[in-house]
Amino acid sequence: MTGKRHIAILGSTGSIGRQALDVVRQHRDLFEVELLTANNNSQLLVEQAIEFNPGSVVICNEEKYDEVAEVLQPKDIKVFAGMDSVCSLVKAEDIDIVLTALVGFSGLRPTISAIEAGKVIALANKETLVAGGSLVTELAAKHNVPILPVDSEHSAIFQCLLAAGGNRFTRIHLTASGGPFRTWEKDRIAKATRNEALKHPQWTMGAKITIDSATMMNKGFEMIEACWLFNTGPEKINIVIHPQSVIHSMVEFEDGAVLAQMGHPDMREPIQFALSFPERLALDNRKLDFASVGSLTFEKPDSGKFPCLELAFEAIKKGGNIPCAMNAANEAAVAAYLEDRIGFYDIPDIISRCMGEVSFIRKPDIGEILSTNDETYARAAEMCRQR
Ligand code: MG
Repeated sequence: MTGKRHIAILGSTGSIGRQALDVVRQHRDLFEVELLTANNNSQLLVEQAIEFNPGSVVICNEEKYDEVAEVLQPKDIKVFAGMDSVCSLVKAEDIDIVLTALVGFSGLRPTISAIEAGKVIALANKETLVAGGSLVTELAAKHNVPILPVDSEHSAIFQCLLAAGGNRFTRIHLTASGGPFRTWEKDRIAKATRNEALKHPQWTMGAKITIDSATMMNKGFEMIEACWLFNTGPEKINIVIHPQSVIHSMVEFEDGAVLAQMGHPDMREPIQFALSFPERLALDNRKLDFASVGSLTFEKPDSGKFPCLELAFEAIKKGGNIPCAMNAANEAAVAAYLEDRIGFYDIPDIISRCMGEVSFIRKPDIGEILSTNDETYARAAEMCRQR
């Protein structure tokens, strides 16, 4: 890589943020951290700031500003609070790449700010494209800003397309582990507790995305994310269950050839590739040992057990603000499920009802995306309270 890359990590205390800092730790000569932001975890944010010495940090929870400022300001690290600070600081001159690893819809506004300031986006926050896909991709094209995928499946598709050198693809095979309930019967899934849903078989991730994986809403989101990132339609995306999570996704071409990208499941690999693109750097991860993997298996997803998948296809086909409403309803329902207030199948039920109730806007602007999100979230939260 020529010259150091200066990066901002939004959501540095989450699972992706921590793994991104581990990538930086292995390549201190290549990456410089300029900005770290966290929602609530002030203690870890302070530790990270002391280790990586960014110019600024933001703690979104304003009540925690004092405890962060007290430690970091004497060290010449500027401390800010609140999401508005994140949106303005990502525009700073000295930042080249913004890794957006915020949870849920909150990722949209700072991602838009960073695009407007011409920053390269390393996108880990899929909800940004689910809720505002048309808006975000048009803005990125206008500002000539690349959106590099961090999600392992999209990084895989991106790598397969790079290898194909501009040849047209016919299908994307988006792989899914199937989550913790893949082999469970439907009536057992219906009674699943949050702790059972939080046990993901292959990946260690944050709570929200782990529940999204258990319902397979995550795969629905990824299908929509793939439509926007690779400028294609849902009819060209085939979701295939692959429990070993060794193939991170595949692309089929006109002659029937299929390219796959593989690796031992470790998010640091796609994170690093987004940060070092187009170069590949060394990484001290576990390398794939095919003999010990033994066999790779594939099966069809069961939409009867996982209705969120169909809801996502329905949402992207309807388009407009419907995927945004779906995302908002999911966010409210997952929050309620994590607090043991609703059952597992209440999640798709509430999403489906909210998608039916929202008034359709064909080409929503940013204000309409925000209001669709807020109104649907409130409506879904109310439905959760009534259960
Ligand atoms: Mg993924």
